[in-house]
Amino acid sequence: MLTKQQIQELEKQQYRMVGNHSAVKVCGWTKKMLRSEGACYKFKFYGIRSHQCMQMTSSMFCANRCTFCWRGEKAPVAKVWKGEVDDPDTIIELSQKRHMSLLQGFGGNDKTKDFLFQEAKQVRHVALSLTGEPIAYPKINELLEKFHKAKISTFLVTNAQYPEQIAKIKNVTQFYISVDAPNKIKLKEIDRPLFPDFYERLLKSLDIMKEATYRTCIRLTIIKDQNDLDLQGYKTLIMRGSPDFIEVKGYMHVGASRKFLERENMPMHEEIDTFTQSLIETLGDEYTVTSEHKPSRVLCLMHKRMQGKQYIDFPKFFEIVNKENDNKKDEKSNENNETPIANSLDYSNEKMTPNC
Ligand code: SF4
Repeated sequence: MLTKQQIQELEKQQYRMVGNHSAVKVCGWTKKMLRSEGACYKFKFYGIRSHQCMQMTSSMFCANRCTFCWRGEKAPVAKVWKGEVDDPDTIIELSQKRHMSLLQGFGGNDKTKDFLFQEAKQVRHVALSLTGEPIAYPKINELLEKFHKAKISTFLVTNAQYPEQIAKIKNVTQFYISVDAPNKIKLKEIDRPLFPDFYERLLKSLDIMKEATYRTCIRLTIIKDQNDLDLQGYKTLIMRGSPDFIEVKGYMHVGASRKFLERENMPMHEEIDTFTQSLIETLGDEYTVTSEHKPSRVLCLMHKRMQGKQYIDFPKFFEIVNKENDNKKDEKSNENNETPIANSLDYSNEKMTPNC
C-alpha cells in the first residue's frame, strides 16, 4: 500500500488513485490533441486516438529503478505482489471516472475543440504504462479481456521482469517489451533491477514474445553515450523476441530522470535516425522504417511479415478477441483504419511531452 504522504504527492502531480493499487493520469498528448496541437506517435504509427486514450497503471509497484524514467521513484519497489487485489470491473469503472474528472476542465475551454472533447468522453484506448509495472497485477489477463469487451483497445508495456505474468496473457492489442540496453552489464547499470536474475527474466520474456499470437513491439529508449552501442547485442535480443515492430526512441530529459542523466544524454532526432539506420544494417533485411515522429524523436520499424498491417483495424480486433476464436499470428488484422483527424493536426510543436 502507498502511504498517505505518497498519495498526496501523486495527487499534486495530477495522478488519481484508483482503488488500492491502480492510478490514472491524463497524458500530455491527450491534452494536446484536445487542443488540436498534435497527437502522439502511436496515432501516427498505429491509429491510436490520443484524445480518447486513458493512461493508467494497474500496479504502482515496480521491480526496476530505471535511470531514464521520467516518472521517478514515486512508487514503492517490490518484487512480489503485496496487499489487496482489486476486482477488474472496479478498476475499469473507477479509472474511467477519475480520467473523466481530470478532463472536465477542458470542456468550455477556448483552446479545446468541442468535437474532440465530446469524443474524449468515450475512452477507446488504454495505455497500461503510466508508472510502476502494470503487468504485476495478478488479474492482468482478466483486466485486458474486460477492456476488450468494452471495446477499449489495450497497449501494455513491461520491463520484462515478470515472465510468468506475460505467459498469462491471451490477448492484448499491442504488447511492448522495453529493452533498455544491449547487454547484461549495461542493463544492470541503466535499469537498476531488484531481481538478481533480471537478465534471465528478460530473455524468458523475449522467448514468450516470439511465440505470441498478438501484435508485439520492442521499445528501445536510446540514451546518448549510455546505451547507443553494441548493435550486435541489440540484434541478439531483438531476434530472440522477433517483434512485429521496433520503436527506436530518444531519451527525454524530463521529470525525475534529470537526477541521473544530463541534457546532453538526450539525442536529437537526426541522431536517432542515424542509430536506426545502423541498427537496420545490423538486423539484415527483416525490418524497414515505416514512420517517424519528430516531436517524440522516434522511428517505427516494422517486420516484413506485417506488410500492410501497420494500422490497427479496431473493429476486426474486437471481433476476433471477443469471439476468442482465433489466436494465430497470421490472422493479425490487416485492414488500414482511416485516421481522418491526422491531416488537420499540427505536428510542429517541439515542446517535450513524455509518451507512454
Ligand atoms: S503517448 Fe501513450 S498515453 Fe499518451 S496518448 Fe499516446 S498512447 Fe495514450
